[in-house]
Amino acid sequence: MTPDGPPRAWHAALALLPGGEIRAGVLIEAAGDRFTRVTPGVPAADLPPGTAALPGVVLPGLANAHSHAFHRALRGLTQAGRGTFWTWRERMYQVAAALTPDSYLALATAVYAEMALAGITCVGEFHYLHHGPGGTRYADPNAMSAALIAAAGAAGVRITLLDACYLSGGLDAAGPQPLTGPQLRFGDGDAHAWAQRAEALASGPLPGHARAGAAIHSVRAVPAGQLEPVIGWARGRAAPLHLHLSEQVAENQACLAAYGVTPAQLLYDAGALGPRATAVHATHLTGRDIELLGTSSTVACLCPTTEADLADGIGPASALAYAGCPLTVGSDSQAVVDLLEEARRIELGERLATQRRGHFTAAALARAATADGHASLGWPEAGQLAAGALADLVAVRADSPRLAGLTAASALAATVFAATAADVRDVVIGGRDVVRDGRHLLIGDVPGALSAAIGAVAPERKRS
Ligand SMILES: [Zn+2]
Repeated sequence: MTPDGPPRAWHAALALLPGGEIRAGVLIEAAGDRFTRVTPGVPAADLPPGTAALPGVVLPGLANAHSHAFHRALRGLTQAGRGTFWTWRERMYQVAAALTPDSYLALATAVYAEMALAGITCVGEFHYLHHGPGGTRYADPNAMSAALIAAAGAAGVRITLLDACYLSGGLDAAGPQPLTGPQLRFGDGDAHAWAQRAEALASGPLPGHARAGAAIHSVRAVPAGQLEPVIGWARGRAAPLHLHLSEQVAENQACLAAYGVTPAQLLYDAGALGPRATAVHATHLTGRDIELLGTSSTVACLCPTTEADLADGIGPASALAYAGCPLTVGSDSQAVVDLLEEARRIELGERLATQRRGHFTAAALARAATADGHASLGWPEAGQLAAGALADLVAVRADSPRLAGLTAASALAATVFAATAADVRDVVIGGRDVVRDGRHLLIGDVPGALSAAIGAVAPERKRS
């Protein structure tokens, strides 16, 4: 919807307002793609004509701060059995090898539609599958990025395309290793070539639902001497800069062996950390690492379902928050697409790790999945039910078996700790209905679209 779109109004039985409070009878008004007024305590008799009723609990739009769309094709193929992060990565490379701009457009459209059904209104796509087989450039060197941006548009969600620099195939005591096999598709040769390609995309013009950011894939994939052009490009554009920090103990050991410092220290010294930066998988950290992340106000993105699925470990969420890091959540490998699940696992993981309860309030967890997530993706004007914010909202049904019996007092905790993506009923993005009564209005058959797109790129699916 454009800023000139028609005025709209909704009446939420219960809604989460800025400050983390649930209020009843909230009249939410919008003109075009922005909210104009949010007024709690309005009786049904006083509503303007044409106001739509939203039963249940209304949340701001959810921000998926870390996604690799194509990993969705691996769901169910890698969960069983033993294996490790590294064996999972081999399977992921097989899917990466099969994708083209056309098949990625189809797959990502279906995946982003699944996200919309889960209440996700903005996705941060950490994108590193840039080139053709063997690293051959497409005629448009940003053909894959363009496919992802088009996919988000087709699914009705906003996207921040986090263009990831990925130059080396691994790191050991001898230093960075060359890209091999499927990894050749990720590489731009050097960081200056990466910056040129990233600039070509960002200087656009980009459609209104898309913004551009940068990513350092990891210290495994970007040699220390190549960090500056990426950091400098993000600084010059005041763009978000995301990075995989310390997902596995082995990458910390490799970084120490190669450079004599932890990944957090290496990135801090290079100037990568700060309020525009997001460290994804801040999992295996020293006390000094936590201090560096906190004092620099770096955002920490947790992806607890993926981190559990890949046996990565439990990140020190409360220590990071206490040190000064805003927290966000991401679906990462798409093991599941459910940000309510990710958000509650921040608290539940802490409880398991510490044998104590009460590290984060439901409001703090909701903020991670909404306002802070949007800000980390370069959409600070989204993620709140407030006048002037982008008109995104998510209505969660309260009549499901999971939420039946909630009251205004219990609504936020019940939603954060017990609701699932399946309870999302309506989703409005930029004042436009994208999901109504659990149905995606732009992609009629989301399971069918997922099934077809996954079948096209994961050959073993076709045989079943
Ligand atoms: Zn990731």
